[in-house]
Amino acid sequence: MLNIVIFGAPGSGKGTQSELIIKEYGLDHISTGDVLRAEMKNETELGKIAKDYIEKGQLVPDDLIVNMLAKVLDSKANSKGVIFDGFPRTIPQAKALKAMLNERGTDVSVMLNLQVDEDELVKRLLERGKVSGRSDDNLETIKSRLEVYHKQTAPLADYYVGEGKHVAIQGMGTIEEIFGRIKKAIDAVNK
Ligand code: AMP
Repeated sequence: MLNIVIFGAPGSGKGTQSELIIKEYGLDHISTGDVLRAEMKNETELGKIAKDYIEKGQLVPDDLIVNMLAKVLDSKANSKGVIFDGFPRTIPQAKALKAMLNERGTDVSVMLNLQVDEDELVKRLLERGKVSGRSDDNLETIKSRLEVYHKQTAPLADYYVGEGKHVAIQGMGTIEEIFGRIKKAIDAVNK
């Protein structure tokens, strides 16, 4: 299986690039943010708990996310591969993902780390906020999301360096330029 972790700060283009990767390589997509937003819309127990964290720009606790991910992963059992978007966001989540994939006889193939300047991230998120309807795309929440990213999520890059899976991708430029860089990185592991 071709399992890709797409990684980067909020606004780094993970969702946009995931769509292009899916089209090109025929992969399944798991975005934990999308799953949580669906749970919120359906007013499930998980959705109600997640709402408070999401609206403050904080991370939803690891145990809830890992249980949720395991269920979604089982629904993709016959897949050619999965692109993980917005997950893992902490070291415990990364270890849980490795264990879940190993149990299923597979592993992460590559981690693509999209690098985007901080000013550009804020600009993109505010632009998205005008059309997304997302309750967390406002300046105050964007600031806490970026802080949470730097403190809790960015250190994961080193974890994947240690696993020999980390590839830095220059995430500034046009969508096509960035996708070109991503394709090269994927083709290097997908032989
Ligand atoms: P995203 O759509 O990936 O930007 O996620 C939106 C929000 O959902 C985040 O700010 C978190 O509050 C929550 N969230 C999404 N994925 C995770 C995750 N893997 N771990 C913890 N919280 C998450």
